[in-house]
Order: sequence, then structure tokens, then C-alpha cells
Amino acid sequence: MSDCIFCKIANHEIESEYVYEDDLVCAFRDASPEAPVHVLVVPKAHYVNLADDIPAEVLVAMAHAVREVAKRTGIDKTGFRVVSNAGKDADQVVQHLHVHVLGGEFLGSAILPEQR
Ligand code: AMP
Repeated sequence: MSDCIFCKIANHEIESEYVYEDDLVCAFRDASPEAPVHVLVVPKAHYVNLADDIPAEVLVAMAHAVREVAKRTGIDKTGFRVVSNAGKDADQVVQHLHVHVLGGEFLGSAILPEQR
């Protein structure tokens, strides 16, 4: 989509701090981190969120990218959280499918950082 910020980052029209990339997905640092490690994994093709009809190969690539991000940022052993906001009630701000990978400190049991 021409006016989508994550499409532009995923296709290098706008550069970012990339952590991982392959043919289907890329991962880059969140601009407003909520934890010492806060990386977004996004598909290169445009989907709005997990309520979309997403090809299985894209979902597999995203899961693989999460694992790579965890390894490359050193949180694979200490633990991490994966969150994907979908739609209005989840307060999804960027309308391009993404998963947040959060870690690098104890995150507690609350899902939302502001509840910690
Ligand atoms: P969500 O509420 O799940 O849609 O979260 C969108 C996330 O994208 C937020 O954590 C923002 O800080 C992050 N974000 C927005 N624009 C950028 C950008 N240009 N580069 C990196 N992260 C971004």
C-alpha cells in the first residue's frame, strides 16, 4: 500500500534499524520501545492484521523471524513476549500486520506494559 509506513520500511523505501530480513518478512526496532528489546516483525506484503486471510507461508516466516529476533537480540534464553494488536478494541495503531517481540527485562504477568 503506497501510504503505509510499514510497507515502506519493509521494502526499504524508508530505512530502519533492521534485526532480521528474508524474502517474506523483516524485523526492525520499534521507534518507541516499551522494553529494552522491542522489535516489530512484519510481512513484506500488506495485510491489516491477524483477522486477514494470511497465507500459511507468511505465518511460518513470521514465526521463524520471531525466533531469529530472539536469538540475535540475546533474549532467546531469558524469555520474551509476542503480542499482535488487531483492530479497534486492541488499539491497533499501524494498520499493517505486525507482531511485537518484547524482552530484555522481567515483564511480569500483565500483558500490557502500563499494567506492570
Ligand atoms: P500497534 O499499536 O500494535 O499498532 O503498534 C504500532 C507500533 O509501531 C508502536 O509500538 C509504535 O511505536 C511503532 N511504530 C510506529 N511507527 C514506527 C516507525 N516508523 N518505526 C518503528 N516503529 C514504529
